[in-house]
Amino acid sequence: MTKLLRSLLQSKHRCHSSTSPLFTLINPANATPHSHYHAPTPDDLSHALELSSASQKQWSKSSPTQRSTILRRAADILSQNVQHVSRLETMDTGRPIRETEFDVLEGIECLHYYSGQILQSHDLLYNHPTGQAYVKRVPMGTTCGIGAWNYPFQGVLWKGVASVVYGNSMMYKPSEFTPSTALWMEECLVEAGLPEGVFQVVLGGGETAQHLIHSPKISKVSFTGSVSTGLRVYQQAAASMKKVTMELGGKSPLIIFNDAHLDNAVCGAMMANWYSSGQVCSNGTRVFVQEDVMDEFVQRLLERTKKLRIGDPMDTETDIGPMVHKLQYDKVLDYIHIGMKEDRATLLYGGKRPNNLPSHIQNGYNLQPAIFTNCTDEMTIAKEEIFGMVMSILSFKSEQEVIERANNTEFGLAAGVFTQDIQRGQRVIDSLDAGAAWINNYNLAPIYLPWGGCKLSGIGRENGVASVEEWTQWKSVYCEMGDVDCPYPK
Ligand code: NAD
Repeated sequence: MTKLLRSLLQSKHRCHSSTSPLFTLINPANATPHSHYHAPTPDDLSHALELSSASQKQWSKSSPTQRSTILRRAADILSQNVQHVSRLETMDTGRPIRETEFDVLEGIECLHYYSGQILQSHDLLYNHPTGQAYVKRVPMGTTCGIGAWNYPFQGVLWKGVASVVYGNSMMYKPSEFTPSTALWMEECLVEAGLPEGVFQVVLGGGETAQHLIHSPKISKVSFTGSVSTGLRVYQQAAASMKKVTMELGGKSPLIIFNDAHLDNAVCGAMMANWYSSGQVCSNGTRVFVQEDVMDEFVQRLLERTKKLRIGDPMDTETDIGPMVHKLQYDKVLDYIHIGMKEDRATLLYGGKRPNNLPSHIQNGYNLQPAIFTNCTDEMTIAKEEIFGMVMSILSFKSEQEVIERANNTEFGLAAGVFTQDIQRGQRVIDSLDAGAAWINNYNLAPIYLPWGGCKLSGIGRENGVASVEEWTQWKSVYCEMGDVDCPYPK
C-alpha cells in the first residue's frame, strides 16, 4: 500500500523541490507516519496552471459522447479497484473500511450519473420573426477545487468529475492530510482517456490553495471546508469576480416527535452523530426530543451506543475508527471537557479514550462517542460545530417551539425530522433553514440530489440538476436571417 502511495506522491507531475514545505502523512489508526511529500513551488503551480488552461481549450471542443465514454471507462476502472481505493482512503482518514467502500461504490454511481448528464442538452433555441436566438451552456474555463479531509474521495468526484464533464479543466487541491485517493483518481481518469492536464491534483496546504484562488487563470473556485477558511476564500475570490461554491460547516437539528418510530429515530440519531467518528458536515448534532418520549429514546440510544465496536478501521467488523488527526482528537476532547463544565449538561456516556484497544492501534486517535443530556440551546456544545462524536440532546414541548429553536443558529446546512405524521414531517422540514433535509432518515446524499447549505453553511450546490448551473455559464447568441432593421437615415 505505502509503495503504491509513494509512487502516486512522486509521479511525474509532483514537485520534488526540497525547498518547498514538506508534509507527512500519518496513519490515524496508529499515529505512525507512512509517507512524505513536498508542496509545489510557485513555479510548479504556474506551469500546472498553464497546462490546465491550454488543455481546457482543446477539451472544451470534445463531444458529449467522448466525455461520456471516458467517464464510463473510469467507472469500470474504479469498479475493479474498490478494495484498493477504499484501503487508501481508510489509511488517510481512519474511517472504517465499510464506510470507505461505500464511498467508492457511490463514486462509481457518480461517474455513471455524469456520463448520462452530459448527453442531455441544456441549450435553448428561440425562433425570432427575422432570426434565431440560442442560449448555450458553455464551460467556465479553468476551475479549481479545494477539498476537506473528512470525505476526500467524495470531494474529488463531486468537484472534479462534475467540472471536467462540462468542458472545464480542474486544478484540485485535496486536504494536505488526505491526498491519496485524489491522486489515484487523477491516474484513473487519464487511463480512461481524459487528456493530460485537464484534471490535475496539486498537493499542499493553504499556501497552494491561495496561489490558485488568486490566479487570473482560474474562473471558478469550489471550496469545501470550515466556515472561517470559507469566508476568507469567498472574499478573495470575489476580488477578481470568480464564481464560487462554498460547502462549509454546520450544527444541524434532528427533531424527534413523540409519534416517531423510536427505533428508527435512534438509528437516525446514531447515523447523524457516530458515522465517520462524527466528522460529517451535515451531522444532526442537536438532537431535539419531544419531552414525553425523552426517557425511552435515551435508554434505547444508550443501549445501542454501548454495543459499538471501536477499533482498527481496516477491520470490516469495526463500527468506529479513529479521529483523522491529533489536532481534531484534541479539539473534540476539549469540547467534551467544556460540555462537562456547562451548567446543567450531563455526560451520560463516553467521551473518553477506549481502554480496550488492540495493541497494534494503542496509539490511534480513538474516542468513545459522547452523549450529553439535559442540554440547552445556549450551551457551547449545542451551538458550535465540534466535528466529532458529541451528541447534545435537548428537550422540547411543541412543534412551533422546536422550529424556532432549530433555526436559531448561524448555520443552515442540514436538518432531519422523525415523525409518523407525514404532513407534519413536510411542514416542519419546509420551515427549517437547511439545504439538505430528511424525513425519517438522516445523512443520505445520492448524487442526483443537489448538496449544499444556506446561511453560514455556504452558497451554491453540488450534484444533481444544480451541477450544470454551477459548472457552466450561459452564452446568448442572436443570429439574424434578414436585413438589419436600422432607424438611422441611409
Ligand atoms: P479547513 O477549512 O481547515 O480546510 C479545508 C481546505 O482548505 C483544505 O484543503 C486546506 O488545505 C485549505 N485551506 C487551508 N487554509 C486555507 C487558506 N488560507 N486559503 C485557502 N484554502 C485553505 O477545513 P477542514 O478541517 O479540512 O474540514 C472540516 C470542515 O469542512 C468542517 O467545518 C466541515 O463541516 C466542512 N465540510 C463541509 C462539507 C459540506 O459539504 N458542506 C463537507 C465536508 C466538510
